[in-house]
Amino acid sequence: MKTIAIVGGGMTGLSAALALADADQPVRIVLLEASDSFGGVCRSQRWGDVLCEEGPDSLVITKPASIELCERLGVELVPTLPSTGGALIAKGNRLLPLPEGFQLMAPSRFLPFVRTDHVSWPGKLRMGLDLLLPRGRYADDEDVSLAEFVRRRLGQEALDRLAQPLIAGIYSGDPERLSLRSTMPDLLGIEDTYRSLTLGMRARAKARPDAKASGARYGLFRTPLRGMAAIPAAVVAALDGKAELRTGAKVLGIDRREGGWTVRLAGESLDVQGVILATPHTVAASLLAPHAPSVATALRGIRTSSTATLNMLFRRSAFRRAGLPRGNGFVVPAVEQGRTLMACTFATNKYPGRGDDEHFLLRGFIGGELGRAQFGKGDEELRIGTMADLRALLGVSEDPVRSHLRRWTNAQPQYELGHIGRVRRIEQGVAAIPGLELAGNAFAGVGLGNVVVEGRQAAERLLAAAGSASEGRT
Ligand SMILES: Cc1cc2nc3c(=O)[nH]c(=O)nc-3n(C[C@H](O)[C@H](O)[C@H](O)COP(=O)(O)OP(=O)(O)OC[C@H]3O[C@@H](n4cnc5c(N)ncnc54)[C@H](O)[C@@H]3O)c2cc1C
Repeated sequence: MKTIAIVGGGMTGLSAALALADADQPVRIVLLEASDSFGGVCRSQRWGDVLCEEGPDSLVITKPASIELCERLGVELVPTLPSTGGALIAKGNRLLPLPEGFQLMAPSRFLPFVRTDHVSWPGKLRMGLDLLLPRGRYADDEDVSLAEFVRRRLGQEALDRLAQPLIAGIYSGDPERLSLRSTMPDLLGIEDTYRSLTLGMRARAKARPDAKASGARYGLFRTPLRGMAAIPAAVVAALDGKAELRTGAKVLGIDRREGGWTVRLAGESLDVQGVILATPHTVAASLLAPHAPSVATALRGIRTSSTATLNMLFRRSAFRRAGLPRGNGFVVPAVEQGRTLMACTFATNKYPGRGDDEHFLLRGFIGGELGRAQFGKGDEELRIGTMADLRALLGVSEDPVRSHLRRWTNAQPQYELGHIGRVRRIEQGVAAIPGLELAGNAFAGVGLGNVVVEGRQAAERLLAAAGSASEGRT
């Protein structure tokens, strides 16, 4: 029986292992995870009755693979709580609601937008020009930055005050560098069809029942009732008896040999017929460098950003001055000087079980591409800066009763200009290496819905190649 080693036990590697276990072809599966647990960045903690997430907290229904995986494995999912308000954006010491009907980049309803304080009157007039401007003219494969696109359609102020913080909330990226085609190709489609983003958003919103909602539409999200860590735990349980699951197994190198690979770990090595690299792409670059230097170079060309999450559990009395936070959270434009936070989720308002009668949970995000200086600060400085932001923006009057800071260093790949071409070169390079596949969040989507598909497809490609190789020999 063939042995396939999967390197990396995050959701990409776990999904690959499950696909191998499901396949008709019997294979020995060895999943090698460097840390002491599976799940990668999916980590949850329980503080008494309160659940908090160190990494991701949401599954989006438009990328259904992760939701389908949960349904298959019996992981109970819950939707977001009925909204106490929409998304908020910081301006000075105020948190301003996104105007009703504002969908990501452009207003779909005019009156609520005209009344908003996010942008000045000249800024609103410039945004209004979107109704008149002609379509942009791009060659089929021409890449354009998110910032350039938004600036051309809606103006600089809309970019600084609305688009940039909303984009940072998703990609932790710098819109001047992010590729529109790789991150939000929908916007190009809307311009193509409707010419104006505003008219396009308006037409789309009319077709939806929640036309009054603004910003992120929370009905789009689900979370496991028992926390994100329940997903890898369920996969591990499903693999019981079908795969060898090893933690504390850091892969130091892979070497080619006749008919397969030797996987090197500290003090031992494994001879296998196939390898799936499901580590962060930066690790995959080092493992591949001796065998495919050009692939390693292309992988290293995908830059990363770092984010810290700071979970803070407050007594409800800490909000007595301004009242409990309403809505699901806020984002902070990078043009707001001197803030530590890039964004903050009002976790207790967002999902059930993320607070209790006495406590309210906030989850701060620090860093991202435009917050590198903040991420570089020491833990204590981050906590002090965050509390200063929360005092100014939410009127918080007491320190949290419990908090936890988790740094995710270089965990978020940036889909920058030229990403599509770079990924194509990586795919071509990897396709030329027999018995090896690459999967993860650096290529076709950063969300869990994407990586579940990535892992599965890598497993299917490897099995298909193994199948056709043995047919060739018969
Ligand atoms: C703070 C944060 C919030 C996010 N929020 C969301 C969200 O709400 N919704 C969403 O859909 N997505 C979200 N994402 C993105 C999503 O969680 C990730 O893209 C996805 O989980 C990545 O999974 P992965 O398995 O590819 O990588 P990882 O989770 O990074 O797993 C890779 C694994 O490889 C292991 N490894 C590394 N080197 C080696 C080695 N040499 N040998 C063996 N093992 C090794 C690591 O220990 C790790 O366990 C978020 C990401 C972050 C960081």
